[in-house]
Amino acid sequence: MDPTLISVRDEVFRRNPGETEFHQAVVEVFDSLEPVLRKHPEFRDAAILERICEPERQIIFRVPWVDDKGQVQINRGFRVEFNSALGPFKGGLRFHPSVYLGIVKFLGFEQIFKNALTGMPIGGGKGGSDFDPRGKTDAEVMRFCQSFMTELYRHIGEYTDVPAGDIGVGGREIGYLFGQYKRITNRYESGVLTGKGTSWGGSLVRPEATGFGVVLFVEEMLKTRSLSLDGQRVIVSGSGNVAINAIAKAQSLGANVIACSDSQGYVVDESGIDVPLLREVKEVERGRMTDYAKRRGSSATYVPGGSIWDAGATVALPCATQNELNADDARTLVKSGVLAVAEGANMPCTPEAIEIFQEAGVLFGPGKAANAGGVATSALEMQQNASRDSWSFEHTERRLTEIMVNIHDNCAQTAEKYGSPGNYVVGANINGFVRVADAMLAQGVI
Ligand code: GLU
Repeated sequence: MDPTLISVRDEVFRRNPGETEFHQAVVEVFDSLEPVLRKHPEFRDAAILERICEPERQIIFRVPWVDDKGQVQINRGFRVEFNSALGPFKGGLRFHPSVYLGIVKFLGFEQIFKNALTGMPIGGGKGGSDFDPRGKTDAEVMRFCQSFMTELYRHIGEYTDVPAGDIGVGGREIGYLFGQYKRITNRYESGVLTGKGTSWGGSLVRPEATGFGVVLFVEEMLKTRSLSLDGQRVIVSGSGNVAINAIAKAQSLGANVIACSDSQGYVVDESGIDVPLLREVKEVERGRMTDYAKRRGSSATYVPGGSIWDAGATVALPCATQNELNADDARTLVKSGVLAVAEGANMPCTPEAIEIFQEAGVLFGPGKAANAGGVATSALEMQQNASRDSWSFEHTERRLTEIMVNIHDNCAQTAEKYGSPGNYVVGANINGFVRVADAMLAQGVI
C-alpha cells in the first residue's frame, strides 16, 4: 500500500481506538485508492485522506425516557456529521442495542461515498441509538423518539443534516421524530427527514427503494455476462424492509427466492417465499421467522441458528447486517455455483468473503453501490419536498432505475479506467472518493 495510505490508516486506528467496524470500513476504501493518489497528487498535498476520515462533527447525547411502568430509562444517542462537501449531511438513524460510536462512524463513512455515487447533492452522515424497539409498545417507542428528537432537532435541518431510517427505524419512528421536530421548531419543514408517510410529505417508492435498487443492480451485473435473474435460485438474508422488497422485486423478474432469515434462524421455502405472508408477519405483527414458518405450513422449513448460506444459491443478497457473511459462507456459496452477490445491508460481507468471491470470478456488488437506491430515493423525496410536489409511483421508480443503472455503469467504467475491469469494489470506492475529493479541493481547507 502507498505510504500515505498506511500512515493515515494507522492514524485513524490510533485516534479511534476499539472502533473495529470503522477501521474495517476505512481499510476497505483505502485498499482501492493507490492508483487514485498516483493520478491525483493534489489530493495528497491537500490532506484529503486525513480530512475525509475525521467527521466534521460528532454529537453524543443522553436520551432519557419513561417506560410504560413509569420507570426512567436512559439510552445514548449519536449523530455523526461526516462530510458535507456535496450537500447537507444525509444518512439514516439506526436503533439497535449494538449501536455505539464505532458502528455509527463506519456507517457514516460508507454513506459519504454511497451518496456521492448516486450523483445527487447529498453529503454523508449517520446516527442512531442503542435503544431496542423490539418488545417495546408503540407508546414507549413514541416517548423515546420524542426524547431523541428533543436533543437532535438543534443539529438538523433541510440545509444542514437530513436523517432517515435504518435498522430499527421505519415509517412509525420517522413519524414520531417528525412530529416532535415540528412541535419544537413550529415549522413544517418537510425536507428535514426522509422516509416520511406518503400522505404527509413522503415519497412513493421510498419504502421499496433499497430492496428494489439492489435487485436492479444485480440485474445490471448479470447483463454483463448475458445472464438475468429469471430462473435464478436466490437467497436473501434478513427479513426487514430491505430484504422483503428485494425478495418481491427478484420474484417479479422471475427469480425463485428460496430463503430468508432473522437474527434467530432462517426459513427455507423451496416453493418460493410468500411475500404477502412475510409482510403480514414482519410489518403488521412485528413477528419472527418462526411465525412465518408456522403459518406457511409444509413448504417451509425453519432452521434455528445456523447459516442461511448453507441452502446454496446462484444469487446471494445479504440484506441483514454487517459482517453476516464470512469466509466459510463464501466458500459454501462458491461451491453451490453462486454467480452474483450484492450487498443490501451495509458491509455484510467480511473482507475475506469478498476476496473469495472475487477470486472465484463471482460478480460482487458492494453495498455502497448496490444498496444506494434507498438514499437516492431519499434525495428524490427532498427534491419533491423542496418543490412542494409529489410524483407518481411510475415516475419515481423510473428515476430510481436510471440512477441504479448509472451507478452500475459508473462503477464498471471507473474500474476499467483504473486497471481493475469487473471489480465493482474498486469502481465504487474510486468513483465515490474522487467526487468527494474534487469538491473538498474546490472548497479549500475546511
Ligand atoms: N439507511 C439507509 C442507507 O444505509 C438510507 C439512508 C437515507 O435514506 O438517508 O443508505
